[in-house]
Amino acid sequence: MKPYKNKINRIRSFALSLIFIGVIVMYIGLFFRKYEIIMLLFMVLGVLAILASVVVYAWIGTLSTRAVQIVCPNCGKETKMLGRVDMCGHCREPLTMDPALEGKDFDEIYNKPNKRKS
Ligand SMILES: [Zn+2]
Repeated sequence: MKPYKNKINRIRSFALSLIFIGVIVMYIGLFFRKYEIIMLLFMVLGVLAILASVVVYAWIGTLSTRAVQIVCPNCGKETKMLGRVDMCGHCREPLTMDPALEGKDFDEIYNKPNKRKS
């Protein structure tokens, strides 16, 4: 597996995993039915994880409106990209908005202006 993924896809899978974590934590809480406080604690943690995923999903929504929709030159499908460099959501082709970076190896460092590689 390649180390980089399309940013929106990556955030989306993070939000999805938060839901799973929340459900699992609440499920674990059911094993502590005898100890109400512990069960309650697990339930609250589970609800918090699910609420966090809702927040992340809302965040993806706002990010998506700012993301640029482009057609991937490699696979020809439409994909959304964030920042100066991103990956195609379908084939993981590195994409860039900056002509100066064209042809260079994909590096997430390009998205952090202060730590740019020379
Ligand atoms: Zn592609």
